[in-house]
Amino acid sequence: MRSIYDYRLKELQDKVKPSFRAKQIYNWIYKKYITSYDDMKNIPKDLRESLKTNFPIDICKVIKIEKSSDGTKKYLFEYKDGKTAEAVLLLMKDKQKDEKGNITKSEQYTFCVSSQVGCKVGCSFCLTAKGGFVRDLTAGEIVTQISYLKNDNDIDENRSVNIVYMGMGEPLDNFENLIQAINIIAQPDGLSIATRRQTISTSGISSKIEKLGELDLGVQLAISLHAVDDGLRSELIPMNKAYNIQSIIDAVKKFPIDTRKKVMFEYLVIKDKNDDIKSADKLVKLLSGIDAKVNLIFFNPFEGTTYERPSKNSMVKFQDYLLSKKLMCTIRESKGIDISAACGQLKEKEQNNGNS
Ligand code: SAH
Ligand code: SF4
Repeated sequence: MRSIYDYRLKELQDKVKPSFRAKQIYNWIYKKYITSYDDMKNIPKDLRESLKTNFPIDICKVIKIEKSSDGTKKYLFEYKDGKTAEAVLLLMKDKQKDEKGNITKSEQYTFCVSSQVGCKVGCSFCLTAKGGFVRDLTAGEIVTQISYLKNDNDIDENRSVNIVYMGMGEPLDNFENLIQAINIIAQPDGLSIATRRQTISTSGISSKIEKLGELDLGVQLAISLHAVDDGLRSELIPMNKAYNIQSIIDAVKKFPIDTRKKVMFEYLVIKDKNDDIKSADKLVKLLSGIDAKVNLIFFNPFEGTTYERPSKNSMVKFQDYLLSKKLMCTIRESKGIDISAACGQLKEKEQNNGNS
């Protein structure tokens, strides 16, 4: 049975009569984080009883939270069937105070959420891939990661946060549930996180990028490019054989982008694989004509991998080259490095401890 978190407001309005009750329910769930119909005081008792049976409030259980000294927090969620996925809260900017201690600017948060348990794509550098694919997350299971993080960190209902679909899984491989979740999250009577604050990171399923573009939701796009020639990219991301670099570039060119924003290209840098200036130059040529920004990511090694982390020096040289060619480029800070570094690593640690 679908949980209350699986419903868009419009769908709920069609199903719950009188329909104004749907907004009240959305308010309780997403603004007050109420998890029992009995606490919804303005809803009549008989309606509350029928809601309990027809729209269960399936809350997710958190089985582990790790806090890092830089403000990063990793949450491991366990769903009804015992499967687990993680979400991460990143403190992008801490609050600022004046001399008197008054807050002049509040903190800025980004939530990194999962879309699947495991992943089908099987990238050779990714720990999530090692566990194979388990299942898609439902829309509600994606939504509850966000409402949980907002509630657990006392983030005011009106404070905007950014969402990145960069946790476990390939979001475009769980297309319908992803779209449903994006819409539920964006609902003003609910979590109210606008679509322009939601970034979908994809390993590059070109056909789905086009499909997403056609929906014109206003979401941001991040492409996990990682390589500039198809040989290396196919080694890193086997799916590249079906959706090669050119097909991704073509799909991105068709994608509707907010004029104030750019398409982000993530480039995982691996020592002696793709950290040379020749690759940087190819990257500049590949992205010419696209309003792009590049985010360089240090490869984060894990047990059993033969890939190595690049030196800081080669990262900076790579970045400088792109900047010299007027291509915007940042180096991703490894937030939360003292807890469980790259995506999927918290879950991995739990499994090694004997949990599932
Ligand atoms: N499947 C989507 C989103 C989840 S992966 C995608 O691939 O874009 C999110 C990010 O984690 C990707 O940019 C990926 O490159 C990065 N990542 C995966 N394994 C990593 C590792 N070992 N070190 C550093 N980043 C890693
Ligand atoms: Fe899946 Fe992304 Fe990991 Fe590749 S990097 S295996 S697409 S989660």
